Amino acid sequence: MNPMFDLNDRIAIVTGGNGGIGLGMARGLAMAGATVVVAGRNREKNAAAVSDLHSHRTTAIALEADVTQPEDCHAMVATTLERFGSLDILINNAGTNIRKAPQDYTLEEWNTVMDTNLTSAFVCCQAAYPAFCKGGGGKIVNIGSMTSIFGAAFAGPYGASKGGIVQLSKALASAWAKDNIQVNAVLPGWIDTDLTRRAREEVEGLHDRVLARTPAGRWGEPNDLAGIAVFLASHASDFVTGAAIPVDGGYSAQA
Ligand code: NDP
Repeated sequence: MNPMFDLNDRIAIVTGGNGGIGLGMARGLAMAGATVVVAGRNREKNAAAVSDLHSHRTTAIALEADVTQPEDCHAMVATTLERFGSLDILINNAGTNIRKAPQDYTLEEWNTVMDTNLTSAFVCCQAAYPAFCKGGGGKIVNIGSMTSIFGAAFAGPYGASKGGIVQLSKALASAWAKDNIQVNAVLPGWIDTDLTRRAREEVEGLHDRVLARTPAGRWGEPNDLAGIAVFLASHASDFVTGAAIPVDGGYSAQA
């Protein structure tokens, strides 16, 4: 393996790593040699993800965690340190969406989306910071979206949270560069997962609109995110920080 991309001896946490994009990224890290901790709420999905990752002959465990609960975020980092002694990589991927017209959201629904997608990422970064400092540096990857860039009429809170992910990443990148911590955002295009399967049911014509607009001519697969995860988690990206990188089959390149 090119040593630049070698993640042997690196310890990674992937929130929402038990399915979809998170599992695709976790697989990339595992294939590059990292020990992977997936954190999610659903026990069955957690167990299935761990056996998937074990097939890549890496060490992987799952922790039950609800990232909207700050104590779970801190416990997730503490347990990782107890089990493996250090933490090198944090991927804040857990996310959710509630689709409706802006005027119809309750405040509770707004808070659910913001807490899950944005506040949790901030809290997990805070929880990981001391461990990164102790280890001499770290890599944080925050998952944004095309709605970090574009407006979506049916996804006001989601877009606000994903726009926030980009600015949070820039702020942390600026603050923590002195600690050798690189913080970047990844903006996936339309990827075929549970989340977007629901979107396709709820938003008429979405499937075909995405196909027509994506220059690559297809929906993405979770494994399409594996490469960027390895790059942003490895020494290959040591001078890349505060960036927001689309992985979208060209969706955002086309007017
Ligand atoms: P999935 O629904 O497949 O995955 C969402 C993941 O988040 C699940 O693993 C889920 O685990 C976890 N999760 C949700 N809420 C919580 C919570 N409160 N605590 C812990 N884990 C939680 O969707 P995707 O893979 O599509 O989404 C992953 C990320 O990618 C999200 O941030 C999403 O916004 C983003 N994204 C997705 C795009 C796409 O096209 N699919 C495009 C752009 C961005 P569990 O079920 O155990 O709670």
